[in-house]
Amino acid sequence: MKTSDWLKKYNIYLKKSLGQNFLSTQTYAKQIVKKASITTNDTVIEIGPGAGTLTQELVNTGANVYAYEIDERLKPLLTERFKNFDNIKIEFIDFLKANLSTFETPKYVANIPYYITSLILEKIFLETPNFQIALLMVQKEYADRMIAKSGKNYSPLSIFVQFFCTVEKILTVPPHAFIPNPKVDSVVIKLTPKKNRPDIDKNKFFKFIHIAFSQRRKTIKNNLKKIFDTNTEIVLKKCNVDPKTRPENISIEKFVEIFHYIEHY
Ligand code: SAM
Repeated sequence: MKTSDWLKKYNIYLKKSLGQNFLSTQTYAKQIVKKASITTNDTVIEIGPGAGTLTQELVNTGANVYAYEIDERLKPLLTERFKNFDNIKIEFIDFLKANLSTFETPKYVANIPYYITSLILEKIFLETPNFQIALLMVQKEYADRMIAKSGKNYSPLSIFVQFFCTVEKILTVPPHAFIPNPKVDSVVIKLTPKKNRPDIDKNKFFKFIHIAFSQRRKTIKNNLKKIFDTNTEIVLKKCNVDPKTRPENISIEKFVEIFHYIEHY
């Protein structure tokens, strides 16, 4: 049965406010799940199963699937769709409030609700730091920002994501693959946690990054003056960074170095 048939059967209209752009057929769901190389020993977490299109492919792998859906209207539909499967558990709660402490090395595979992308990333990284991989469908613009290493798309989000993970773009999904059609392309990204992360105070570091990018068109020296006035230039020179450089042209490694220096100055 197609997604639209399931929705018709249960008289469900989709809500924009919940980021409900559902995959219309199994085609892309199959491709995404294939890229996750799931085995029966895996535990897979899905955020927002919707009408169960991607969920169906996840369940078919034989892995243990845990899905979190905020919209209780989908309960009868999902209950019927998966009544013959014992390797899936669906909780009808806000994923951002879910207790993930029992998951050790989960895989995440999800077409996530766009309006909470950053909060979802934060929760995954901080609450399940040993996750194996996360294959997440996000808006193309968002993926571009997550992947950028410099330039106009490089932002605190790029640094946040790349501090924790390596990021790869693995599939582009066109608007016609969804109901309703979104205005933009979507991209599936693969996040793999980095093993050797710098040993620094993450909260302080990300606050520092926000200050460094507070005015993108200004130089790093100008932005950092807000926290570290007179000695900014000395610190930047020690780190071999031209004080006139814009933040969008400074690598994560350099930012870590500057941060270290400021912390120990
Ligand atoms: N997985 C389905 C698919 O690919 O067809 C639906 C994806 S749709 C982009 C996002 C889903 O996330 C919707 O079903 C929506 O109701 C759900 N959702 C939105 N906010 C949520 C939240 N805070 N926690 C859990 N699910 C949420």
